[in-house]
Amino acid sequence: MVDAAARPSQAVLDIDLGAIVANWRSLKTRLAPGAECAGVVKADAYGLGADRVAPALAAAGCRRFFVAHLGEALEIRPLLPAGAEVYVLGGVLPGEEPEFRAGGVLPVLNDPGQVERWAGYGRRLGVALGGALHVDTGMSRLGLMPAEARSLAASPGALEGTRLGFVMSHLARSEEAVAMNAEQLAAFESLRALWPKLGASFANSSGIFLGPAYHLNLARPGAALYGINPLPGTPNPQRPVATLSAPVLQLRDIAPPQTVGYGASYAATAPTRVATIAIGYADGWLRSLSGRGQAWFQGRTLPFIGRVSMDLVTLDATAVPDLKAGDRVELMGVHRPVDDVADEAGTNGYEILTRLGSRFARRHHGA
Ligand SMILES: *Cc1c(COP(=O)(O)O)cnc(C)c1O
Repeated sequence: MVDAAARPSQAVLDIDLGAIVANWRSLKTRLAPGAECAGVVKADAYGLGADRVAPALAAAGCRRFFVAHLGEALEIRPLLPAGAEVYVLGGVLPGEEPEFRAGGVLPVLNDPGQVERWAGYGRRLGVALGGALHVDTGMSRLGLMPAEARSLAASPGALEGTRLGFVMSHLARSEEAVAMNAEQLAAFESLRALWPKLGASFANSSGIFLGPAYHLNLARPGAALYGINPLPGTPNPQRPVATLSAPVLQLRDIAPPQTVGYGASYAATAPTRVATIAIGYADGWLRSLSGRGQAWFQGRTLPFIGRVSMDLVTLDATAVPDLKAGDRVELMGVHRPVDDVADEAGTNGYEILTRLGSRFARRHHGA
């Protein structure tokens, strides 16, 4: 897909595909010898365009991709080389088996019923179907419970009709230094040993930084590919990827007791220059940034004042007298790290990226 041109009045999201690839490569070099690095591109590659991100990663040598939904898998499959594998984390629901097969995409099997149906489908077709087996080691979200995994492993021929690539599990607190990580790893080691011939996949982005014991055969980073800090509270080892800028639509000077925006939540206490920019919560720039967010312009910071509204944000531009209509301020990027925006909004970088709207222009660079 070719990016549409941005109008002067539109906010723009610039996406550095070269930085995504560099982030993937740098994660890959951290892995223990022999461990492979996948790419998690669910939710439209965390809002940055799976149709552009997945092929760029494939060109760099990434061979396994993860998405959440079957529809996401079917969209990217035709854009990838024949040898690439696309796994659907949500699993395969009854009746979806033929669509997986026809689309050439693979289910992560999350419960005994999914295993039985997928294997039965393979046996009826007389083929061995690919896929992965997910075991739950503490998330209580998706995956076979340990007892279910043990009983599956104890039933002879249960996996006939499949040729599964690996067993996987997912960490609950990988970005924290807590005992639960080692406990989950131990639980996973004992469950994966039920299928000694299958590979094993465990670490997400932050899990890679927990050390080589967590790498096993296949790491599954998402967030760190897109510039989110896998090590919160310490310097970000990843490169920034996404830059969001919005144009100034209008400037005005106000004086006390004038107020700004809905609810009159901000009242001027001194002469104040207000800049109104073309972005709002309809673009995913969260309302919780009201009175807390910041924009950056040529080395200076402009605080959000008043409420974030649907299409507009108002900034205190008093300290930036040279700012004029048409200038672009940076909301996220090198000077406004996604993790800082997330802190201001009271959420995480994942939500900031995946909420990015569809109304502003997206421009991809440097594949
Ligand atoms: C989203 C997801 C990942 C990627 O996690 P990040 O923290 O973004 O690296 C890996 N595995 C599973 C099962 C996931 O749902």
